Amino acid sequence: MGEFDLIARHFQRPAPPGGAVQLGVGDDCALLQPTPGTQLAISCDMLVEGRHFFADVDPEALGHKALAVNLSDLAACGARPLGCTLALALPQADDAWLAAFARGLFALADAHGCPLIGGDTTRGPLNICITVFGEVPVVAGRSQALLRSGAQPGDELWVSGTLGDARLALEALQGRRTLPAAVLAAARARLERPTPRVALGLALRGLASAALDLSDGLAGDLGHILDASRCGACIDTGAAARLLGAQELALDEDARLALVLGGGDDYELLFTAPAAQRAAVLAAGRQAGVPVSCIGSIEAEPGLRLRDAQGRLRPNRYASFDHFR
Ligand code: ADP
Ligand code: MG
Repeated sequence: MGEFDLIARHFQRPAPPGGAVQLGVGDDCALLQPTPGTQLAISCDMLVEGRHFFADVDPEALGHKALAVNLSDLAACGARPLGCTLALALPQADDAWLAAFARGLFALADAHGCPLIGGDTTRGPLNICITVFGEVPVVAGRSQALLRSGAQPGDELWVSGTLGDARLALEALQGRRTLPAAVLAAARARLERPTPRVALGLALRGLASAALDLSDGLAGDLGHILDASRCGACIDTGAAARLLGAQELALDEDARLALVLGGGDDYELLFTAPAAQRAAVLAAGRQAGVPVSCIGSIEAEPGLRLRDAQGRLRPNRYASFDHFR
């Protein structure tokens, strides 16, 4: 199978009619027509074997995850997906592997109306780089994109879904922890097949004051909102510990916090909203079909503080992931 057969067989599909894609795979460029009155939101994420996934990972799950982590960035900005490109380096053209990878990728692409519109294919160590394109309305000259920079003292701090389970699975797969089979299966699904919160991101437009998606761990990722918004935050340790998905595990609060605040690969949304919007935020979660939990608040004093139910400050020892630290 040559390079062009490979592309035609696995990645070339007719562009869905009526969408933003005027020209998809096959020419030198794809052509995208965003809706008038919107701006493009663009993000790119790379997955490298040995760093982001194990060599023997299920290729269908890998196709899903490669797109999911990108859609999660669009979700964090409140952008509606339009399409994506795929740059792929492969050690060899393995037809069964490619078919499974494409199945996982296209299933998620179809579910979110995000067709594959182009890419590049080369031989090399397995490396997957997807770029997603989305659109965000511009109203009266103002972008409706959710940014990291809009949090204000007094805002409440919210998280979607559950956290920490991807880290549980990672530790189990690395042999650092043993888990009951049912817990491992659920945690592994979180690690290998994350759910991008696209509908929630759309529902939070005009409601959230700041947002990002959690990829490296809450404690560190929240720091990006605090830096960009020039403020601090206080997290309620009880509320944070309750975010762990695997509540049935017999873990003390400290162990739960380590997973929830320090774990990564969650791909949930972390966002802030004025306290007066509490009911609207809960309604946005219901509309998007994902629970949202308030875990603290934004404060003027810089830094991140952890406070328990008795109001005592607890030390923050929870670092998140950094590729170069
Ligand atoms: P060029 O020679 O202009 O770089 P290529 O020969 O690399 O183009 O690719 C031919 C066509 O196939 C282009 O439309 C490109 O976007 C598309 N393409 C290449 N690799 C992929 C891929 N992995 N997934 C989707 N489209 C791809
Ligand atoms: Mg070209």
